[in-house]
Amino acid sequence: MEAPFEEFGSLVFGEKQMQERLPKPVYTAWKKTVSSEGTLDRQTADSIAHAMKRWALENGATHYTHWFQPLTGATAEKHDAFVEPGPDHEPITHFSGKNLIKGEPDASSFPSGGLRATFEARGYTYWDVTSPAFIKDGVLCIPTVFVSYNGESLDKKDPLLKSIKALSDAATKVVNLLGEKDVRSCKPYVGLEQEYFLIDRKYFEERPDLRLTGRTLFGAPASKGQELSDHYFGSIPTRVAEFMKDVNKELWKLGIYAKTEHNEVAPSQFELAPVFSEANTAVDDNQLTMDILRKTAEKHGLACLLYEKPFDGINGSGKHNNWSILTDNGSNLFAPGEKPAENIRFLTFICAFIRAVDDNALLLRMSASSAGNDHRLGANEAPPAIISVYLGSYIEQILYGLYMEHPSQSKNREATPTEFNPISGLSYIPHDNTDRNRTSPVAFTGNKFEFRMLGSSMSAAVPNIVLNSIMAESLNEIAEELEGIKYLQDVRAKALDICRNIIHDHKRILFSGDGYSSEWVKEAKRRGLPNVRSFVESIEVLEDKKTVKMLTDLGVYTEKELAAREEIYREQYIKQIGIEVRTLLSMTRKDILPAMTADLKFYSDADAAAGKAAPAYLKARVTELSELIDETYKASEMLEKDFTEVNAAGITKEAGKKMYYDICPEMEKVRSFIDKYEVIATPDNYKLPTYEDMLFSL
Ligand code: ADP
Ligand code: MG
Repeated sequence: MEAPFEEFGSLVFGEKQMQERLPKPVYTAWKKTVSSEGTLDRQTADSIAHAMKRWALENGATHYTHWFQPLTGATAEKHDAFVEPGPDHEPITHFSGKNLIKGEPDASSFPSGGLRATFEARGYTYWDVTSPAFIKDGVLCIPTVFVSYNGESLDKKDPLLKSIKALSDAATKVVNLLGEKDVRSCKPYVGLEQEYFLIDRKYFEERPDLRLTGRTLFGAPASKGQELSDHYFGSIPTRVAEFMKDVNKELWKLGIYAKTEHNEVAPSQFELAPVFSEANTAVDDNQLTMDILRKTAEKHGLACLLYEKPFDGINGSGKHNNWSILTDNGSNLFAPGEKPAENIRFLTFICAFIRAVDDNALLLRMSASSAGNDHRLGANEAPPAIISVYLGSYIEQILYGLYMEHPSQSKNREATPTEFNPISGLSYIPHDNTDRNRTSPVAFTGNKFEFRMLGSSMSAAVPNIVLNSIMAESLNEIAEELEGIKYLQDVRAKALDICRNIIHDHKRILFSGDGYSSEWVKEAKRRGLPNVRSFVESIEVLEDKKTVKMLTDLGVYTEKELAAREEIYREQYIKQIGIEVRTLLSMTRKDILPAMTADLKFYSDADAAAGKAAPAYLKARVTELSELIDETYKASEMLEKDFTEVNAAGITKEAGKKMYYDICPEMEKVRSFIDKYEVIATPDNYKLPTYEDMLFSL
């Protein structure tokens, strides 16, 4: 590879390394395992492990780890050195096939939602042969799934792999029924756009709320926000450009095709997007990307904030999940082709997806939600909390044309969208089939669906598990209806019938208007579309009988695993709010009330010193500050009392909802007084970095 990309993939033990370093039969055995046509025997595993160890040592690694994705949403690793005492007490390096394939982290502290009682705390990690090992910070990382002693999945990767298999089986059936003969698998592909904030590290360190909760729990808006839109796509600040350069370098070494980078809408907000890849590795790579963003920021004296809403009043950060399905011969099942109206396979897959989304809107809503994302979804910036699908007028017209059974009508419409040539001298301007609608949570963008609800800090595993599963279910239904029809012509006619029925039953989910408007909220209600307000409420879908049946029938989760996840989500939510409450109370007591009191003294001293000649301003300040101190004090005491009461109830549905509907607004109330104070605070007494410091210093 030519400079500056000569190090691309140098830290990945991928296909190329395998081919070069493994004896042919071993390589072939590995390939067969990857395509699920074989299993690894002991000897093959030993041989791969040996080659991997040699490669890792040559590249400076001293340790290895089974890298896994527990239900915390983060990644976990426990390092073991390659070196150990040999038979003569001489140091030797050791890494066997067993070390590669299976690990047993003493992982009793990971959330398991009751799947694992502490007396049988064992959990096992198993190598995921489909994602390559890599070196990070001198450690050979082996991507693994994490399961309990009884085989229940304790992580996000195992169900993801199962959902990929379910989707592949279903899509392959439908594709072959529709006329292909030799498609053997269909894989989901994913491209994740990652948004984040960067601030100077010194400010980050001075704000306990940022360090402990990921967001500022108070802070008055700076005099300038994002109203001028002067940051978006603007020239990247030098310090940030240097940071991005380093991030790219690290990602490229890991074989991640970091591609696009730009300033985002909010001040100090940026975005990074890689080239899309197979869903499993795309999710892994996104976890790695978040890790590298954080660590590289630290090296540059910056802090990378991945939290969904670090600052009030300006945009938060999300993650766009671009998702499509490709056959093993590389054709994209969502590609409309030259004549979408006649492309039965395309229409079938689009309709299958529409039904999947409409039938499982609640599950999709849950999959993209978190405590942090509650500050975005439905809050006038991110997609609304109501799920709808945007197809673009062109595709929508084709579907309605088909539905109205006026094929000629839909064909005529193929002339739209109108041709235009914005720049003279360009004879060829490639044409998109879809216009842009930034307010839609699920948008068709040419040959893929963009699921835009994800929070920036979360693992993309669950949203993809859900997309894969609901699509698999919808396609299985179609396959059932098509199976047994003798002639291809009849199969295709039947497929169009199925599409018409789907459009009839599910057109309510299609929406092209402004998803942020209040009219849409009303219209959605009229259409019977669910509008779940909070994350804690959204997780109740995991008890829904139809949802449980779908996910268990597909073999993605067991009933027990789903119940465990609901419990873990609720527990995490309640704990997260607890951390926020305690942090807010502590800052109020240590930083805010003392500063207010010092300011009060400052003004009352000045007022007293001036005697009769004191300007009205001083008295006004004294009054204002006295009131603010009172109000802040009262509101924070009340918050503590109410929180303690709700928290004492433990992890219950009721407690979860009370945290959202009672405790969060009480935190907002405390915040409102602090923000009012911040506007008049004197810099001598109020020491915390302000929004202006944090957002306008790069
Ligand atoms: P946007 O205009 O939404 O900012 P882009 O069009 O640049 O985004 O693409 C965003 C992401 O979509 C990239 O990561 C890109 O690789 C990915 N992408 C492109 N085509 C596909 C596809 N067929 N399947 C999945 N992801 C895709
Ligand atoms: Mg996008």
